Amino acid sequence: MITFFQNMPVIIKLIIGINLLITGYQWVGQPVVVNTPFFESLNSIAGFSIGFLICINTNEAQKGTKYYEAILRHEYVHYVQQAYFTPLGFSLYTVYNIIKNFVKYGFKSYFFLYYTDNYFENQAYELMYDESIKIPKFFSIDLPLDWKK
Ligand SMILES: [Zn+2]
Repeated sequence: MITFFQNMPVIIKLIIGINLLITGYQWVGQPVVVNTPFFESLNSIAGFSIGFLICINTNEAQKGTKYYEAILRHEYVHYVQQAYFTPLGFSLYTVYNIIKNFVKYGFKSYFFLYYTDNYFENQAYELMYDESIKIPKFFSIDLPLDWKK
């Protein structure tokens, strides 16, 4: 065990160390929420969560609506999942499931199904309209929401 640890390449130690550092923050801290229309072509609200960062694709008109709150809650569920399983564990499980779903559905289906048919996504979809879940925020910033005007 000691030799395994000592002989591990520095890059692997760095990846594991940063992964655990982010997880550590997630246990005691709160998410940083960034609102910005990052997918210009995407008219609906969407988001992603990596570690402590939650990024929501939204514009001025959509922000604060019930659907915006649902997407934010969906991403917050992913934040908590990543606190439990670490961002790396969460990502590996997601990649494993995408491959598993390619085998399950064949190449005839569409990417969204490959991505969404897994435990983490099912849980996030199940809880996204549960208004009893309050979403804590360390802070929230709006990167130009009206940049298209
Ligand atoms: Zn999701």
